[in-house]
Amino acid sequence: MQRENLPAIADLADLELVAAVAAKAVGVKQLLRDVARDYAPVVFANSLGAEDMVLTDMIWGEGTEIGIFSLDTGRLPAETCELMARAERHYDRRLEVFAPRHEAVQSFVAGFGINGFYDSVEARKACCHARKVEPLQRALAGKQAWITGLRAAQSQTREKLKTVSFDSVNNLVKISPLVDWSEREIWVYLRANQVPYNALHNRNYPSIGCAPCTRAIQPGEDVRAGRWWWETSETKECGLHLVDGRLQRVAQGVEA
Ligand code: SF4
Repeated sequence: MQRENLPAIADLADLELVAAVAAKAVGVKQLLRDVARDYAPVVFANSLGAEDMVLTDMIWGEGTEIGIFSLDTGRLPAETCELMARAERHYDRRLEVFAPRHEAVQSFVAGFGINGFYDSVEARKACCHARKVEPLQRALAGKQAWITGLRAAQSQTREKLKTVSFDSVNNLVKISPLVDWSEREIWVYLRANQVPYNALHNRNYPSIGCAPCTRAIQPGEDVRAGRWWWETSETKECGLHLVDGRLQRVAQGVEA
């Protein structure tokens, strides 16, 4: 999947597209209200990527009763932390932040080294488990459903990604309201509604995770090329998202 630098494109001049995105947004906001009513307690796992800032705007902007949390892995880029603070100011809300258990991080560092994730897939997955997977499981405990910003176009098994599915790993319903949105539509929504987004997106980081595991992509590279770039594409996942028992390879923030 190749991409243009969408944050820099003036799509707002395309009035038909802007109207189509606004109409889609109405449907998603209604879905979110329905989910809040039917699946309480429900939470939104906010990776702080572009898609998730769309959902943040739709939830906080509308006052929908859905909790929002993010995972602070301890290795996030400064720009992502700055976005967290900026979003809190913009919406006058406090983001719930889940941190890794310090024992798990200490154990990883003792066993593999502070940057041991570069040395093997096993070490990288151990780091992702300690810093992301376990905190996510804690954040989802006791919930009936969780919301994600996954889009079908980001997934290599895209035909299997559905708006509503059952997450058998975490044992709750998983809702992906933006499943049929394109990346261009995401950026039209963000720009039309002046939603805060990560400054790294302006510097050719379409997918942003932890700082040591993310770099900018070159023109023509896959949107995921900047994530765990030292690994083969077959191993690039962190275990947060499964569909029909298969890991989903996704191209956005903290989720992968
Ligand atoms: S993305 Fe990198 S630093 Fe972040 S949890 Fe995974 S291996 Fe660790």
